[in-house]
Amino acid sequence: MKKIKKIAVLTSGGDAPGMNAAIRSVVRTCAYYRIDCIGVFRGYQGLIEGDFVPMSARSVSSIINKGGTMLKSARSNEFRTEAGRKKAYDNLIAAEIDGLILIGGDGSFTGGLIFNKEYNFPLIGIPGTIDNDIFGTDYTIGYDTALNTVVEVIDKIRDTASSHNRLFFVEVMGRDAGFIALNAGIGAGAEEILIPEENLGLERLLDSLKRSKRAGKSSSIVVIAEGDKLGKNVFELRDYVEEHLPEYDVRVSVLGHMQRGGAPSCFDRVLASRLGVKAVELLLDGHSNLMVGIVNTKIESCPIEEALKGHHEINKELIRVSDIMSV
Ligand code: ATP
Repeated sequence: MKKIKKIAVLTSGGDAPGMNAAIRSVVRTCAYYRIDCIGVFRGYQGLIEGDFVPMSARSVSSIINKGGTMLKSARSNEFRTEAGRKKAYDNLIAAEIDGLILIGGDGSFTGGLIFNKEYNFPLIGIPGTIDNDIFGTDYTIGYDTALNTVVEVIDKIRDTASSHNRLFFVEVMGRDAGFIALNAGIGAGAEEILIPEENLGLERLLDSLKRSKRAGKSSSIVVIAEGDKLGKNVFELRDYVEEHLPEYDVRVSVLGHMQRGGAPSCFDRVLASRLGVKAVELLLDGHSNLMVGIVNTKIESCPIEEALKGHHEINKELIRVSDIMSV
């Protein structure tokens, strides 16, 4: 086994608040163990183009509080090709890099595994995505910040909803996973929460809204994950509800990219710092193809392959709590 003397770190896929804190942690852990650290700009595309920068403990000063990623992120179609991955490998070897730390989501990990199978290049994954949809960790970096952002915005929307007796449909991120919708929905006191994992059905939505009118509620918030399976987008859903419940004046708010931005929460900064240390230490101990994560408050690791195969299930108890709260 080759001794690890130089590690490269990159951020890939969608950016998430806390990625900077993870980069900082990787760089400073390398400095602590007196090994070299290289930053790769623009994810896999930067790997292919050799867009590298040496990083010292001081080069990551004052980034722990910043959203986004100082190394930039990118989606690289070239890395999906054998030729692209060959260029990436040649650049890593030319720069005498012995191990790679990937901060990203499941797409980035899939690419990493393929690369490892071809070149047996040591790598460790750190889960960074606001969606929290990765198996093998209770929380991904960025999720907690996104939740807090969504709750803050819904609180503001509620001011308008209650002043005008309106029903608001708020669409939040989550193409395949309802973690943000479910938790932010409970935190913001939503009437109904529509998520991809549970098909509430249009009839039940109408019944619930009728019930809340009868219960004396004059305004309501419905939180909808973008990947909800009702078969209608949020605007079609508004038209449908207005057609069947004309007493409601429905407004739509699509939160979009604001959910990705902003200063990371303390939780995300601490999580990122812990995961970065673990990722470097695993590489130094000769491990590869592992993803670090937090399980029951402890920092653990699992094979990336397992993380990709498994499914991070939504907590059914939260669905029950949400139902009870909308009585
Ligand atoms: P998020 O879901 O939070 O946006 P992600 O890491 O899942 O993050 P993707 O865009 O799916 O984001 O993947 C990031 C990059 O990983 C892709 O642009 C591509 O370069 C690489 N990648 C993804 N899938 C593969 C694959 N099957 N083979 C090679 N590379 C891949």
